[in-house]
Amino acid sequence: MSATTMTPEALKALVRTVPDFPQAGIQFRDITTLIGDGEGLAASVAMLAERARAGGAQRIAGMEARGFIFGAAVAVALGIGFIPVRKPGKLPVDTIGVDYALEYGTDRLEVDPAAIAPGMRVAIVDDLIATGGTALATAELLRQAGARVDHALFVIDLPDLGGANGLRGAGIEVEALMEFEGD
Ligand code: AMP
Repeated sequence: MSATTMTPEALKALVRTVPDFPQAGIQFRDITTLIGDGEGLAASVAMLAERARAGGAQRIAGMEARGFIFGAAVAVALGIGFIPVRKPGKLPVDTIGVDYALEYGTDRLEVDPAAIAPGMRVAIVDDLIATGGTALATAELLRQAGARVDHALFVIDLPDLGGANGLRGAGIEVEALMEFEGD
């Protein structure tokens, strides 16, 4: 089956569900089986890239680590640059950062502000949106750096957790290639 003929159902079937990882009660939606399939990887990147192109993206931003896999591939497919949104202390230059709440504790993301020109349209790409905390923090950070962030793309949405609606409330159009019920 070629990338262009892969159905949404066939793509979804490539995602492995691992119960109780990393903790009891979580259904972990594992994309390693999807990216391990050449057609599945190509199809997901092509579908994300088409949506990013339609949204007029000038750069793709991806969050460490799984956002790097899809985000960089989408950027290559569109011939535009990729902006890595990194965990603290990884970038070798002066960064700007944002702290955001996790279920337990906080985390931080950093970006090189020199990667973004004022008003540049930056689309966010990640593997999965759950609560949306990571993507909202990323949007805030990119906006602080001067970007126009009005589009976020995910392979998987967990709509029951409300993350996509939270992003929409922040003026960001959200698209995902598939949804899974529950968390
Ligand atoms: P959130 O900030 O809650 O939207 O969480 C998003 C990040 O956590 C994504 O980058 C995912 O990689 C990871 N994540 C959260 N929940 C799951 C899940 N059920 N299965 C796989 N990854 C998840």
